[in-house]
Amino acid sequence: MTAQLLDGKAISAELRNQVKDRVDARLQAGRRAPGLVVVLVGDNPASQVYVRNKQNACQQVGFKSELLRLPAGTSQEELLAVVDELNARDDVDGILVQLPLPEQIDEDTVTERISPHKDVDGFHPYNIGRLVLRQPLLRPCTPKGVMTMLAHTGIDLVGKDAVIIGQSNIVGRPMFLELLMARCTVTVCHSKTKDLAGKVRGADIVVAAVGVPRFVKADWVKPGAIVIDVGINRLEDGSLCGDVDTDAVGEVASWITPVPGGVGPMTVATLLENTLLAADLRDRAG
Ligand code: NAP
Repeated sequence: MTAQLLDGKAISAELRNQVKDRVDARLQAGRRAPGLVVVLVGDNPASQVYVRNKQNACQQVGFKSELLRLPAGTSQEELLAVVDELNARDDVDGILVQLPLPEQIDEDTVTERISPHKDVDGFHPYNIGRLVLRQPLLRPCTPKGVMTMLAHTGIDLVGKDAVIIGQSNIVGRPMFLELLMARCTVTVCHSKTKDLAGKVRGADIVVAAVGVPRFVKADWVKPGAIVIDVGINRLEDGSLCGDVDTDAVGEVASWITPVPGGVGPMTVATLLENTLLAADLRDRAG
C-alpha cells in the first residue's frame, strides 16, 4: 500500500490523553469529574460491546461513568422518565441512550427528550441546528472524529472537493455540515445517486458511510485523494471490514483509514471530548 495510514488508534489515544489531562486539571482546581450515564435498553449483542468500550474509555480518563441497564420490554414512557431524572441530576453531564432501541420506543422522541446540554451524542435537533448555523456546541461524534483525523494529515481542507457516500442522520448529514464548515465543496451521495463512481472520481476527500463491505473501488478514486472509511461490516467469518476496498484503494489514495482501528476509536474518543465539553459548559453556565 502506498497511501499513508490515518491511524485511528494512535490519534484517539492522543485525544484521550488530552481529555485525561484536562480532567486532572479540573480535579486539581477542586471541580468534579465529568459524569456520563449510558442507558442500554435490551440485550443487543453489538450494543453491549459498544457500551463496554465506552465505559472502559470513561474510566481511563477519570470520568464518573454509570451504566443503566433496562429490560427489552421497557416502555417509551418508562424510558422518558429515566431520561427526565438524568436531565435533572447535577452530577450527570452527558446522557447517552444507546441505539438501536426496541421497536416499541421511538428513537426521535427519546433523542429530543435528552437535555441538549447533556446530549453528548450530538443528535438533538438543537445541536444539529447549531452545526447548521456554524455555531457548534456538542457535535455528532463520528463526523467530528473524522475532522480530527483529517486535521492530522496536515492538509489544508479549504476549497477541497469532498464526496460523502451515505446521508444518514448520524454520519452522512452531519459530515456534510462539518466539511462545509471547513470550507470544502461537498457532494452527498446516496442509493439514488446517478453516476456515483464518476462523482467519487472528482473528489479530493472521500468519506464512505454506506454499510456495504468494500463498496468503494480503486478505479473510483482520484490519485492522491484522502479516503475515510466509516463503515464497520462484520463478514461471515467473523472478521470486520469497512466500506472501502482498502488494499486496492490504498495503492491510489494519499491517505486512508483502516478498519478496524480507524474511525471507530475516534468516535469513542470524541464522545469523551464531548462529555468534557458538556461539563465545562455547564460549569460556566453556573
Ligand atoms: P445507514 O443509516 O444505513 O445509511 C447508509 C447510507 O448509505 C444511506 O444514506 C444509503 O442511501 C446509502 N447507500 C446504501 N447503499 C448505497 C449504494 N449502493 N449506493 C450509494 N449509497 C448507498 O448507515 P449509517 O448509520 O450511516 O452507517 C454507515 C456505516 O458506518 C455502517 O457500516 C455503520 O456500521 C458504520 N458506522 C460506523 C461508525 C464508527 O464509529 N466508525 C459510526 C456509525 C456508523 P439511502 O439514504 O438512499 O438509503
